[in-house]
Amino acid sequence: MSTLRDIVYEKAREGELYEKLDRNRVRCFACGHCCPIPEGQLGVCKVRYNRGGTLYVPWGYVGGVQCDPVEKKPFFHAYPGSLAYSFGMLGCDLHCAYCQNWVTSQALRDPNAISSPLEASPELLVRDALRQGAKILVSTYNEPLITAEWAVAIFKEAKTAGLITGFVSNGNGTPQVLEYLRPWVDLYKVDLKSFDDRHYHELGGRIGPILDTIRTLHQMGIWLEIVTLLIPGFNDSEAELRGLTEFIAAVSPKIPWHLTAFHKDYKMDDPDDTRAEDLLRAADIGRQAGLLYIYAGNLPGMVGGLEDTCCHHCGKVLIKRHGYFVEDYQITPEGKCPSCGTSIPGRWAPRFEGQVTDRPFLPRRSSRLVTILQ
Ligand code: SF4
Repeated sequence: MSTLRDIVYEKAREGELYEKLDRNRVRCFACGHCCPIPEGQLGVCKVRYNRGGTLYVPWGYVGGVQCDPVEKKPFFHAYPGSLAYSFGMLGCDLHCAYCQNWVTSQALRDPNAISSPLEASPELLVRDALRQGAKILVSTYNEPLITAEWAVAIFKEAKTAGLITGFVSNGNGTPQVLEYLRPWVDLYKVDLKSFDDRHYHELGGRIGPILDTIRTLHQMGIWLEIVTLLIPGFNDSEAELRGLTEFIAAVSPKIPWHLTAFHKDYKMDDPDDTRAEDLLRAADIGRQAGLLYIYAGNLPGMVGGLEDTCCHHCGKVLIKRHGYFVEDYQITPEGKCPSCGTSIPGRWAPRFEGQVTDRPFLPRRSSRLVTILQ
């Protein structure tokens, strides 16, 4: 019987995001750790490894697939109502105690994280996405940067089939990986977890590469939304939120900022769950920093108008939401406010065709994706 560790070693092929060093070592560029990896060793993510002076990277499987409303990723300014066919692999370059995808992200570090990978190919995944009615294909659940080569192989196939592609990522990138992704990724969500480098060290990273990723993605013209999981006592001080929102506004005040409510999960069960009033206070700080599109999630119906998209010029409600459910859609085919004609930042379909689903579901009739662990 195969173990997850066997799968990491067997379902792999030579990567593209690395350089060879002396003494058979390699340096990986897929994430901000830029690990120098000695022969026979794994990188920090535990899925990329050096064998004989060659870097091997994950290939040919998914840790899981799910059909999500695009609003769940969350993208609120990218093809509202669309279905986002979402796949993940295994492993992560960080180890956040509050991770809400820990079953796949920590599968190789934590013996309590059990997941069952599925055999997959780019053709199979794209065919399945189309069969489910997806418009968007998203690499998510674990950290997609550490499996960037596999994501690009899938996205090449997806683009040929006319699909939009996206990353849901912690943003711990490098110039090399972002340049590598640039032709193939349309949408990018960065999880900006904190504005304090000490907090990032607790999670196993550094803030510098994440801020650089945000700046670079915006410069590259990849559609970017940012999410911050607001955790009482961890990242919700006024000073930290002020710094964080002023940073985003300096990159562009039109970048949507999603605040989501923390609930006790994985190993972080000390802080209280986030209340609606905590989200509203943080949103206020973001507004003072100049952000034009602020959303509050995970507490449907409890955050006033912070689930809706309103024109940043005249205030008209353009998209009305309850949780992931799109109740009303008013944006013109040209992506403008029908009231004042202002262009609304985002990626808009020529017309809103209704919402495929407002809740996640497992792919229907996708029996071709078979489990590897028997
Ligand atoms: S993806 Fe990141 S953590 Fe993994 S080997 Fe490469 S640099 Fe290291």
